[in-house]
Amino acid sequence: MKKEIWAYLETDSRGELLSSSKELLAKAGIIAATAEEEEKYLICALLAGAEHDVLENTAEKALGAGADKAVLIEGDELAVYSAEFYSDAIGRLAGTEKPKMILFERTTDGMDLAPRLAARLQAGMISDCVDLVREGGKLLWIRHAFGGTAAVSVSFREQERTQIISIRPGSFGGSGRGIKAAEPAGMVQDAPGKKGAITIKPYKSADSGSRAAGEKIVRPALLEVLEAAADRGADLGTANVIVAGGNGAGPEGFKLIEELADLLHGAVGASRVAVDKGWISHAHLIGQSGITVTPDLYINCGISGSVQHIVGMRDAKCVVSINKDPKALIFNVSDYGIVGNLHKILPALIAEIRRHRG
Ligand SMILES: Cc1cc2nc3c(=O)[nH]c(=O)nc-3n(C[C@H](O)[C@H](O)[C@H](O)COP(=O)(O)OP(=O)(O)OC[C@H]3O[C@@H](n4cnc5c(N)ncnc54)[C@H](O)[C@@H]3O)c2cc1C
Repeated sequence: MKKEIWAYLETDSRGELLSSSKELLAKAGIIAATAEEEEKYLICALLAGAEHDVLENTAEKALGAGADKAVLIEGDELAVYSAEFYSDAIGRLAGTEKPKMILFERTTDGMDLAPRLAARLQAGMISDCVDLVREGGKLLWIRHAFGGTAAVSVSFREQERTQIISIRPGSFGGSGRGIKAAEPAGMVQDAPGKKGAITIKPYKSADSGSRAAGEKIVRPALLEVLEAAADRGADLGTANVIVAGGNGAGPEGFKLIEELADLLHGAVGASRVAVDKGWISHAHLIGQSGITVTPDLYINCGISGSVQHIVGMRDAKCVVSINKDPKALIFNVSDYGIVGNLHKILPALIAEIRRHRG
């Protein structure tokens, strides 16, 4: 087994490393930096795609952001993310290289890929980790249970198999008991110039070009890639300020919410009802079936405070809630509560911030 921690990195449509991927490298750094002397790990940036130049460029950035080496899996079938080809490509490589761990950030692709890979490699997997503790040389991964009301520590019994771990974006932050990070996760900056090795691994699926006559392989086909409109939801996982709206906001309320988020240089979040009603896209959903956020400031407007929503925002440092119902459950997890109509409060708040800033 190789003493390597692989971090699966993702890029945006321009080939830029996602901030969640930089965060993942920082988290791999925390594990490596705190390992016992005889357990020193190399951090390997794992990238997959079809365009060599784009991959290489990203790999160099990853090397500048904490990776010791980079492996690029290249193949035409990896041009866009597909669970089938990506898990096949990474699975084949991991099957022969046998890294100690493969880390995924709990993004949409990470949630899709990690369990497939674990099944393929017959490896153990711990999902949605929020922290880790080292106890007597053993790594204990912390994850939430029972809708976030309890924290449990989980470890791998089998040490001689690759371990698959998915980590919640925005979590960790070097706060792990017994774990000291040089820098909080997510704060690693690009520092081009660090030397590291880049290895290229060509990929072709086993059956490409070798279909028997008449054999039918049913595969999903990508017909079109639609760029999302400029969507601040994508930044939710790492945003310092989030203004979120719920059923009480309505489409008009969301215009005010966006205005306030803009003023505060923040991102816009939403409850499930707001998403289901089509007022905002699913990328903005906060909670059990959406993203988990940990901003410094979470302002929510017209959100009642269901357990499924709270589980996604309870770790925000300061929660400000605006709700017309003084008994709304959201006030139980709020630092500041404003009881009243958000359609009156938000314009007043926006005007006051503007006045204050001159
Ligand atoms: C399996 C499962 C998964 C789920 N996952 C999620 C999830 O990830 N995220 C999520 O959010 N939900 C999730 N839900 C849904 C969740 O149970 C709630 O239904 C949802 O969170 C409620 O959204 P809301 O608070 O916006 O709406 P409501 O519960 O309808 O609350 C609206 C609130 O707005 C207030 N209000 C109304 N008008 C005004 C006004 N003018 N000014 C101020 N306040 C006003 C009301 O007093 C009320 O408190 C899930 C449910 C299930 C079953």
